[in-house]
Amino acid sequence: MKKKVISMMLCAVMTAAMVTGCGNKEAAPAESADAAEETEAPAESTDAAEETEAPAESADAAEETESEAEAPTGGTLVMATNAYFEPYEYYEGDQVVGIDAEMAAAVAEKLGMELEIEDMEFDSIIPAVNSGKADMGVAGMTVTEDRLVNVNFSKPYTTATQVIIVQENSEITGKADLSGKKIGVQLGTTGDIFASDIEGADIEQYNKGMDAVQALANGMIDAVIIDNEPAKQFVSKAEGLKILEEEFITEEYAIAFAKDNEELLEKVNAALDELTADGTIQAIIDKYITAE
Ligand code: GLN
Repeated sequence: MKKKVISMMLCAVMTAAMVTGCGNKEAAPAESADAAEETEAPAESTDAAEETEAPAESADAAEETESEAEAPTGGTLVMATNAYFEPYEYYEGDQVVGIDAEMAAAVAEKLGMELEIEDMEFDSIIPAVNSGKADMGVAGMTVTEDRLVNVNFSKPYTTATQVIIVQENSEITGKADLSGKKIGVQLGTTGDIFASDIEGADIEQYNKGMDAVQALANGMIDAVIIDNEPAKQFVSKAEGLKILEEEFITEEYAIAFAKDNEELLEKVNAALDELTADGTIQAIIDKYITAE
């Protein structure tokens, strides 16, 4: 994190020194054109004038910028997640494993960074990313219009669906039967959002998906709406539950970034492209999800 701040500051300083290459490439010509204008009007910008007087220094700076862009970024890449969402993120001993954890580690490796995982409640992930506590949110997080107001998303890395879990002998056969029922969801998830649209439904929000599923197994609620793969895991760990065939909606999972961190977003997207092209992402998914 510290390194990131320093490199962003360096970027700002270097841009002021008419050196480009920190941000996205498209911005570079515009910036250097501006800088050239400033040089023609030295009265407007003392910084630009100073740089013009010290050409040796700006040449050095240009070299440094170039090598920094090519070399690994270094430092720590902090991933915020909620590690109770098997097979995407869950504990094996004291280690967080799963599709997201492995994919993030592969991305970090590509960027020459070290992955650090911060486990928190699901609805704390976006605030953590926006406050800079974490660099990115990787949590089986669905791209939604509402979230796009607060964060940017990487390219999607997989798709998922929302499903309904009920007791084996339940009369509920699909979402049409859910009105007026007690529905358990994980707080702040898309399942929570869909449940809130069901007429007359009584929504029970839980911090962990498994807590909702346990409440269902104990007969405290009538159904749970949750993502399909965790649903399979949770149902296999509880007694007397089934997943209904009917799926709610197809969603895309992606990695969340602070709006002002486009630099990292672009680097991660480039890493995801490479990891998709060479089959790494699919291999990670196949390791955790066996085809039916
Ligand atoms: N995909 C769901 C969402 O983004 C649930 C994610 C989760 O619980 N980790 O809301």
